[in-house]
Amino acid sequence: MKSVPVEVVAESAIPGPERINLLGMDRRALEGFFARMGEKPFRASQILKWLHARRVTDFDAMTDLSKALRAKLASEAEIRVPEAVMDQRSADGTRKWLLRLDGSNAVETVLIPEKSRDTLCVSSQVGCALECSFCSTGVQGFNRNLSTAEIIGQLWYVNRLLDAEEPGRQVTNVVFMGMGEPLLNFRNVIPAAELMKDDHAYGLSKRRVTLSTSGVVPYMYRMAEVTDISLAVSLHAPDDALRDVLVPINRKHRLSELMKACRHYIADKPHRRITWEYVMLDGVNDSDTQARALVKLIGDIPSKVNLIPFNPFPGTDYRCSGDARIRAFSDILSRAGLVSTTRRTRGDDIDGACGQLVGKVADRTRRRQKREQRMRVAQP
Ligand code: SF4
Repeated sequence: MKSVPVEVVAESAIPGPERINLLGMDRRALEGFFARMGEKPFRASQILKWLHARRVTDFDAMTDLSKALRAKLASEAEIRVPEAVMDQRSADGTRKWLLRLDGSNAVETVLIPEKSRDTLCVSSQVGCALECSFCSTGVQGFNRNLSTAEIIGQLWYVNRLLDAEEPGRQVTNVVFMGMGEPLLNFRNVIPAAELMKDDHAYGLSKRRVTLSTSGVVPYMYRMAEVTDISLAVSLHAPDDALRDVLVPINRKHRLSELMKACRHYIADKPHRRITWEYVMLDGVNDSDTQARALVKLIGDIPSKVNLIPFNPFPGTDYRCSGDARIRAFSDILSRAGLVSTTRRTRGDDIDGACGQLVGKVADRTRRRQKREQRMRVAQP
C-alpha cells in the first residue's frame, strides 16, 4: 500500500457563502440560472463544457463568454472543486482518495482500473443511515447528504488527475456504490447522474452510469420517472427473514415489493437488466438451497448477478465464503441460465474494496460509540 497526502488548490474565485457553486448545477439548473440573468439557454452548454469537459475554473479563461458576463459570473457565482487530503494506491492498481468536505467530514472515492475501462465508485452521503450488518460504512454512522457539487466533484477531481498523469485518460464508468444510500439523497444524486450523461459535460452513456440501492422502493419508482441510468440492487439474501438481518431496510420494503419495483424500472427499456449484488458470507447466505431460492426469486427478471467475496473489517463476525463454495453457488445460477460473475476483490490492501469505505464521518447517530461500547463489554 502506498499512501500520500496531496495538496490541491482550487483555481477558482474565493468561496463565499452567498455565491452559488456552478459545479453542482446540471443543464436544467444552469438554464434557469442564466434565464434569471437574462441570458440565453445555450450559455448552459458553454459553461458545462468549460467546467466539466475542460475543467477550467477561472471565469476569465472562458473566452467565448463576453467580458461583461464573465464579470457578472465572478460576482454572483463561484466554482468550488474538491480537495483531496489522501491519495492511496493498492498493489493491484486500485486507487482511493479521501476528499475533504466541511470541517470534520471527508468521503472516499475509489478508482478501479481494468484493461478496457476505468470505473469510479462515488460516494453519495457522509456515512450511511442504514445499518447493513456486513458493511463497514454502515458501522461509521451518518452525518449528512453530499451536495450535487460534492458528488460530481469526485468525478471532476479524478478526471483531472488522470488527464494530468496520462493525457486523454478519463473515467469511463461510474457506479454509485461508495459511501451512503444514493436514493436517500435523491435530490442531489439525480442531477449529478444527469451531469455524468450530459454530452457537454462527461458524455457517459446510460449504461455506464449505475446507481446501486439497498431497496428504497418508493424512490425506485421516482427514479424510473426521471432517469434511465442502470440500476443495481444490494440483494445479499434470497428470503425476507435473512435479508431483514443483513439489509435492515428490508423490514420496511419487503422482497416482493422490491422485485415489483425492479420489474417496473426495466419495463419498456429494451435490453436493460438489473444487476444484483450478493456478498458471499460463509455459512450465512451461501448454501445450495439459498442459490436455488435466489434463482426462484429473480429468475424471471433480466439479470446479472455479481457475487462479491466478503471483505472483512475490524469487529465483524462474518467471514468470506471459500472459493469452492462460491464456485458451487455460481454454478447453480449459471445452470439456471443466470449470468453471474464473481467480482475480484480489488483494493483490499487500502480498504478500498466493496463495503470497506469509511471516510471520516462526524457521526450524528452515535452508532459507532454504541458499537464500540458493546464490543468493550463483550471482551473478557
Ligand atoms: S451497504 Fe450501502 S446501504 Fe447498506 S450500510 Fe453500507 S453503504 Fe449503507
